[in-house]
Formats: sequence, C-alpha cells, structure tokens
Amino acid sequence: TGEEQVYEFKTETKRLLDIVANSLYSEKEIFVRELISNAADALEKLRHLQATETTETDKPLEIRISLDQDKRQFVIQDHGIGMTLEELNDNLGTIARSGSKSFLDKLEKDGSGSRENIIGQFGVGFYSTFMVGDRIKVYTKSAKPGSKGYCWTTDGQGAYSVAEADNVAVGTKIVIELREDCKNFASQLDIDAIIKKYSNFVGFPIYLNDTEVNTVEPLWTKNKNEVTEDQHKQFYRFIANAWDDPQYTMHFKTDAPLSIASVLYIPERHMEMMGERQEPGVSLYSRKVLIQPKSRGLLPDYLRFLKGVVDSEDIPLNVSRELLQDNILARLRNLMTSRVLKWLDSEAKKDQTKYNEFFLDFGQFLKEGACTDHMHKRDLAKLLRFESSKTGSGELTSLEAYQERKQDKQEAIYYLLTPKRRYAEESPYTEAFKANDVEVLYLYDTVDEFVVNHLKEFQGIKLIAADSPEAASDPLLQSSRQQDAGALSDDQAKSLADWMQNTLGADAVKQVDVSRRLATYPAIVLEHESPAMRKMMQMMQGSAK
Ligand code: ADP
Ligand code: MG
Repeated sequence: TGEEQVYEFKTETKRLLDIVANSLYSEKEIFVRELISNAADALEKLRHLQATETTETDKPLEIRISLDQDKRQFVIQDHGIGMTLEELNDNLGTIARSGSKSFLDKLEKDGSGSRENIIGQFGVGFYSTFMVGDRIKVYTKSAKPGSKGYCWTTDGQGAYSVAEADNVAVGTKIVIELREDCKNFASQLDIDAIIKKYSNFVGFPIYLNDTEVNTVEPLWTKNKNEVTEDQHKQFYRFIANAWDDPQYTMHFKTDAPLSIASVLYIPERHMEMMGERQEPGVSLYSRKVLIQPKSRGLLPDYLRFLKGVVDSEDIPLNVSRELLQDNILARLRNLMTSRVLKWLDSEAKKDQTKYNEFFLDFGQFLKEGACTDHMHKRDLAKLLRFESSKTGSGELTSLEAYQERKQDKQEAIYYLLTPKRRYAEESPYTEAFKANDVEVLYLYDTVDEFVVNHLKEFQGIKLIAADSPEAASDPLLQSSRQQDAGALSDDQAKSLADWMQNTLGADAVKQVDVSRRLATYPAIVLEHESPAMRKMMQMMQGSAK
C-alpha cells in the first residue's frame, strides 16, 4: 500500500454532495441503477478494448453485488475496464458529467422548492452513492497493461484520498458503508426488487449474493425472426404481470430518424369495461436500462391499452432528462404513435375478422384517439369500424371499404346516429337511402357523434348525417318516388307546408319544406338535436326509453 494523497473536492462537487446527502427517501434507490449502469459501461468498454488490444484480465464479464446486513455494507464489483490514477481523479473528483452539471443548473433555476424527484430524473451518477453512504471506497485497477491498483475513499465531507493498493483485481469494486437510516439497502429482498425494477435487462449478468437476478432476456434487442411466439408470450406475461396471451405482437427496430427498439403487445382483454381506468403499460428504456416505468409521456393516453418496452439509444441516461421531456420524448412519441397506428392498419388488412373482433373490445380507445389526437386523425380514421346498411348485424366495415363501395356520383359518406340497427332500418331517414341503394353507416355509440364531428371527413369525402338538411338535398336521394295519381301538386304541397308552418308556429319549427323523397312517411324532422342531446333531455325528463 502506497502513500495516501488527500484532495479537496471542487466547490460545485461539494454542493452536489450536499444536495444528494439530503435527498428524498423515494430517490435513494436510484443509486443501485447508477452503479450497475457504470459497471455495465465499464464491461462494455473492456469488451471493446479486448477486440483490438491485449488486456490484463480474463475474468467473466459480469456484475456482482454483495450485501452484509451486520456491517451495513453494499458492495458492487465488476471486472471491467477499471481506472488509472488520472482517470480516478478526473472521473470521481470532479463533476464534468453533463448530467450532474445540468442537475445543478436546474436546481439553481428552480430553487429548492421543486426538488421533488429531480435526482431520480437526472440520475446524478456515481454521486448518488452519497444518498445512502457515510463512507465510500472505490478499489480500481485499469485493464491497460502495467496498471497499478488504487483505493479512493471519502466520507463525502469535502475531501477524498487516493492511495496505491495491493491485491486489487482489474476492474472496479465499490464499497458503501450505509447510513443508519439506509440500512435497508443491505437487505437482499429490497435490492433484488430494485435491480429487477431498473436493471433487469442489463446486458451482463448481475449476481446478488451469488444468485443471478436478471435472467430475463431483453427480447426487444433481438431481431424479429429470432424470437418465437412462445418467447413473446412469456415476455409479455413477465412485463405486463399478466396471465393471458397477447392477441397482437409488434416487434420492430429502426435507426432513423431515431434509434428505437421496441416490443409492444395488445392483451386479450382490458379492464375498462369493468369500470377501471387502465394505466399506461409501456416503459421507456435507454440501452436496456429503465428510464421511465409505465411512462405517461411516451405514448398518447388513448394507447394506454398497450404493454411493452420502447428502448431508444438516443435517450441519454446521463444527460439531463429535462431536455428529454421537451424534445426527444416528443419526437419519440410522435414516431411511435404513427408506427403503432400504421401497424394496426396492416394487421387489419392481413386478417379482418381478427381485427374486427379486436375492435369490438378495444375500439373505444381508438375512438377516443379520433376525438383527441388531431395529428394522427387520418391514421386513426382508417382504424375505425362500424355497422352499416350493407353489413349484416354484428359485422363491421371500414371507411375505406365504404368509400370503395359508394356510387360514383355520391359525394358524401352518410351515417346515422342510432341506438339500434332495427331503429335505423325502420327509420324514415333511411328510406330514401335504401330506395337509392346508398349505404348508411350505423353509429350506435354515444362517443361516435364526437368522432364524426371531429373527423368531419375521410380522405377528402365529407361525413354527413343521414338526418341532416345536407343529406336531404343530395340529388342522389331525390329519385325514389314516382309520382302517383293521388299526389298533391306542387302548389297544393306548398300551401300545406305553409299551413303547417303557421299552425305549428315559430317556437316549434324553423321552416317547413316540400320534399318528394319520402315514400311511406308523410313528414320527417330535420336538423333536430343530436341523439346524445336527446338522451340527455330524456334523462332530465325521467322518461328513459
Ligand atoms: P457517467 O456514467 O454519466 O459518466 P458517473 O458519475 O456515473 O457518470 O461516473 C463518472 C465516471 O466514472 C464514468 O464516466 C466512468 O469513467 C467512471 N466510472 C464510474 N464507475 C466506473 C466503473 N465501475 N468502472 C470504470 N469506470 C467507472
Ligand atoms: Mg453513470
């Protein structure tokens, strides 16, 4: 063991140490993730180095954590690249890291009032050990040939010391003497749960007191054709904490415009029909390390029925997560949303029956999207399904299929908001449509009214209510009725209309017009309040139908 050198921490490091030492309880567990990430980085660097140079180690590429509850110790060791004396001073003595820097900047700007969870968001790296430790010792030896071993130690109070040390293995070993109030971090049960939460998919085996913890493979990093359906099933059950099977599986990787690897699943069922609001189910990772569990910002809320993982290397683990919030995350969300919607569309085209069944259960989410997500409204519109006058009862059609079937001269897509198929078929409003073979979509859901109001059109073709004045004036619908012998003349009809208008008065009707399109009904009301409105009125009058 060589001579001990004592160094002062830089002022800003002292500040950071001060802050982390007083961290909130909920933030403390982050230190495990940070140390594991550093160890994994060091192993990765060693693997890189070994590809080109000879190194002084042949130890397995793994991470070992051992706990000692009696001594209140947390120890983590890797046989990675290690650090030279210079690296030790540079890396652990200063806060050159962008993460810690922007963390301090953020604190400066916001004051201490909004400190909540900020450490967790930024991931202050190695310094996070001071949230839980009284004294930290780092034993390290660089893998570069001829390197010596060192021991770096501090109580976090302003100075650290470095000394040469014997019997140091290549790599790094960090020993944390836990504070009295942090002794739970020497508990195997607690650390096991924390590793599983944040570091379950780290690319090197993590042993906790000699048992491997992270045995589940990160499926999303593999190529699509390397993963079997059964592996997906197991993985889905694992991450979604579920017992059913996914009905759809989406697995994809891309490098541009962002680097993304992702697996997403649609479960067999969702719980919202039981009146339980579903929480988001997709977690954000960066290089296999958890960044945001069940992330709220990663996908729009209406896709909350999805389960899975999105891993993006462009999300920096170390750099300010605040930037991530505003910028990369928004881009990632936009990309993922459009990817998911296009994927669903292709699945629908591959197997209509399967998709329609899915839609009956999950269509409400897509309808919610069609009402709220302006940016992806076209993609969402393609995914909607309705019954129509040309489908059987219980069968569904898409707007695209409607468009293909419609008559050449037909300039609108017609729909009727109706509680039941039978009402629609017997409705005076659909009579002229039937007679002229014009298809009408039957919209049974209360939310459908908002959907069509929001969409307004589909691929340039207007969506028009079959019971609207606009529909009544469509020339396509005028030809149904042949004039039979007993019909009123135009003049007679006009004076009847005038009489009705005068008799009913301005409070009851706005206008009474002559129409030749009805065959079996004497009159219809146009431009009445919407069914949703009507339902509300009925409820208020206590006359539920
Ligand atoms: P970051 O990981 O963002 O660089 P950290 O504060 O976590 O910041 O670590 C600072 C630096 O210390 C790392 O960049 C690395 O050079 C060095 N370091 C930390 N842990 C290890 C380790 N286990 N082995 C080798 N070097 C390490
Ligand atoms: Mg780090």
